[in-house]
Amino acid sequence: MSAPIRTSANLQAPASRTVQSIARSRSRRGVEVADRLASAALAHDSKLALAVSDMMRECSSPANVWTASDLHNADGELFDGVGTFASCGARLCPSCSAALRRRARHRARAALASCPPLAGEYARLVTLTMPTVADASLLETMHVIQSAWSLLRKRKFWRESVRAGIKGVEFTVTSLGYHTHIHVLAISRWIAHAGLRSEWTHCVRAAWGARGREIAFNTPTGEAIVDVRLVRAKGGASYASITQESALQEVLKYICKPDAWLKVPDAHLVEVAEVARYPRLFEVFGAMRASHETERASDAETFLDTTCLSDGAQLLIPYSESSPTVARGRPPSLRSLALTSDRAAWLETLARHFAKRRAYRRGVLCARYSFAIFQSLAGDVSFGVESR
Ligand SMILES: [Zn+2]
Repeated sequence: MSAPIRTSANLQAPASRTVQSIARSRSRRGVEVADRLASAALAHDSKLALAVSDMMRECSSPANVWTASDLHNADGELFDGVGTFASCGARLCPSCSAALRRRARHRARAALASCPPLAGEYARLVTLTMPTVADASLLETMHVIQSAWSLLRKRKFWRESVRAGIKGVEFTVTSLGYHTHIHVLAISRWIAHAGLRSEWTHCVRAAWGARGREIAFNTPTGEAIVDVRLVRAKGGASYASITQESALQEVLKYICKPDAWLKVPDAHLVEVAEVARYPRLFEVFGAMRASHETERASDAETFLDTTCLSDGAQLLIPYSESSPTVARGRPPSLRSLALTSDRAAWLETLARHFAKRRAYRRGVLCARYSFAIFQSLAGDVSFGVESR
């Protein structure tokens, strides 16, 4: 670093030790999931999944994970933070998931604030489940629930009750298969429970049916399990209601903790790592959508370097010398490079890409957060506008 090293009492403060322990834990978990994915990739002979594990390892490396003191928000309030300089963008990566979650929470709050309930409407937390299907892969259950959701949104029953909302898809791993379900924070009129149950059951049956599977609903009603609870902006939760904060937590749970990935069998983990287009797990819909899009545009540059994690499109190598085979036009994605290079060349390209990206992001962050001091887990300290 060209700037002189400045010391800060804050770096030693308890809050700072907390961000340091978060950073260390994310880095450690990132390596754990990367190790797990690498062994699954080797067992299933997947060059692409192995490459994703390499990217996660770079993302979780001590030189790439930072803590910062004295970041500031729009009101000039100072806070400590954790992040990565370069991002791998892998769905399985703890650091990139944390950044995605932070951004989704920000968008969800803005969307909610933009769409207060009208007369006769309330905020409700709607949960839509489907039966576990023992031999279905995780990705398959996610595609199916997304199809069922698309069908539900077109139904008259849904359109007449729900004006807007935020949707998150979550899964848990059980001994019977994946319990994949949807949480919706909806702005709606009264939703008749039995009506919703029968509509959703129809949609789930149709979505599995389109894949050639007939499924059974082993419930007392013979239908899918759904739940509707009133969301209170203030006050405590009760049997029939939930606080807005808890409802948001449910909707955003879709962003997995590393522990959930560690429970997913090898073959399904490889499938998740390989997929180019992941089903849309987070969505702002209906009357909230317009404001959500505006919010998204204004939030284009976030300090946590989050980009769309859905299709790996952000994994572009922005300098052409990395691939002699592509002379001009769109740079090759890391995905395609991983598939076409030999392993040694790939690892070298990846390390070079991360080093460049890291240096660039460090400069951007220091310029944007001019009061902050950034320290990587490897010990490099940076702050202020750097001369590069
Ligand atoms: Zn990452």
